[in-house]
Amino acid sequence: MADFKKYKMFINGEWVDSESGKTFETLNPENNKPWAIVPEASAKDVDKAVKSAQKAFGGEWSKLLPRERGKFLRAIGDKLRDNAEHLGKIETLDTGKLYRETYKQANYIAEYYDYYAGLADKIEGTVLPIDKPNIQAITTRIPIGVIAAIVPWNSQMFLTATKLAPALAMGNTVVIKASELAPATMFEFAKLIEETGIPKGVVNVITGYGEPCGKTLTSHDLVEKVAFTGGPETARHIIRNSAENLSEVSLELGGKSPVAVFNDAHQENAINGITAGIFGASGQSCIAGSRLYLQKEIYNEFMEKLVARAEKIKIGAPMDPDTEMGPLSNFKQLEIIEKNIKLTLEQGGKIKCGGKRHSFSNEGYYFPPTIIECNDHNLPTAENELFGPVLSVMKFDSEKEVVEKMNDNKYGLSSGVYTRDLARGLRISKAIRAGITFVNTYRLISPSAPFGGIKDSGYGKEAGIDSIKDYTRVKTIWYYTSDEPTLDPFSMR
Ligand code: NAD
Repeated sequence: MADFKKYKMFINGEWVDSESGKTFETLNPENNKPWAIVPEASAKDVDKAVKSAQKAFGGEWSKLLPRERGKFLRAIGDKLRDNAEHLGKIETLDTGKLYRETYKQANYIAEYYDYYAGLADKIEGTVLPIDKPNIQAITTRIPIGVIAAIVPWNSQMFLTATKLAPALAMGNTVVIKASELAPATMFEFAKLIEETGIPKGVVNVITGYGEPCGKTLTSHDLVEKVAFTGGPETARHIIRNSAENLSEVSLELGGKSPVAVFNDAHQENAINGITAGIFGASGQSCIAGSRLYLQKEIYNEFMEKLVARAEKIKIGAPMDPDTEMGPLSNFKQLEIIEKNIKLTLEQGGKIKCGGKRHSFSNEGYYFPPTIIECNDHNLPTAENELFGPVLSVMKFDSEKEVVEKMNDNKYGLSSGVYTRDLARGLRISKAIRAGITFVNTYRLISPSAPFGGIKDSGYGKEAGIDSIKDYTRVKTIWYYTSDEPTLDPFSMR
């Protein structure tokens, strides 16, 4: 216990324990051992964080020019670049995600802060072509107020940046709720934010469970917008909570993203893309390409090559630079995956590789790359989001058939298609009901590329130029331009 790392929450520019003194342990997924102790936010702590954000919203933060807010964002970006290795190590320790990805991501995520820093002073209002004499009317964009940013444990630096950066750029203040699974990275990030000298209370970082922390935050009177990334069940709670405070909600939820490979595809490229899409980050990505459709003429040959590639994946310690797949982030994931595989096999699915806990599993939460052949995409592994390295593979004949199958799922986050026929690539990318389609590639992000889904994958887009407006409200201002008094106070003009 003595050498555990101890974290505090960041509220109103100060490092504090929870009021109740309650804490919880966070586990290292590599060996299932606790390594850090974290305060568990109670309703009182949430209230304190929201009130400090509200106070900061009305304070010196609101007086800064957009360009000056942009400077704080650039400073956050610079801190990320300077501390990417440290952040990467902590995230790897806490989530089990590979260090070769976490430190690169911490570094790359700096670009998001630069991007929104640049946008901070470029959001313009309008002059309205108003239909009244002696009136000048304009619109401006004003900040919303206190934003609750709720993030999951996977890709937390990315999913925080897409909320925090546009929110700050537009003059809002923020309470970030880190996931109770692996919250340490967010506290390390808060230390860097503090070092930029940003006014107290503008950014607060807390953590805790859905109840009471998440619930209190998302139903708090002073919260004006909830930007949420997580699972669909939690989203339903949040929408119910927002009935209390009438806050605006944006939702980035799960996915069961389909990928199609046509006979004419560049096979090596397709295999790399599919491997990145489902085995990168051990499949714990909301855009994981977890449903694969292969055209029937190449089915056997392609499946063989794909299985051979999957079997070569090096499983190991997430800090080791040679490791290609580390552990899952928590034990619950492992159990969900096992249950779905069992049901799928009972209904006719056939394992082509993997399928059982890896031999390291008695220490960490390791699950090997798994490929399952399914004669029907309604089998559990082919239909449900598993958040793990499990690929369900189906056969198709025609373009029309595969488009129908790709669209036949409740989610609509990402999708992929591999073909050398550009016209077909364009047709399919238009026909797929998903927020993102990758053609001959997979698993890319950029500050300038809107990210988000449709259907049960949520609503609202993060990143990209338009998303900054989601952190503003339009305000209309009317000016009377005549020196004469207005007439007839009893009739609306
Ligand atoms: P989760 O929904 O369990 O948790 C997400 C966050 O919500 C956590 O911080 C959690 O503490 C909080 N929370 C839980 N109950 C709450 C409540 N009642 N009120 C308010 N907050 C509450 O999700 P998870 O298991 O941590 O993450 C995995 C899910 O996230 C997957 O479904 C995945 O697809 C999704 N995800 C989506 C995207 C995207 O951008 N679309 C990105 C990454 C992950």
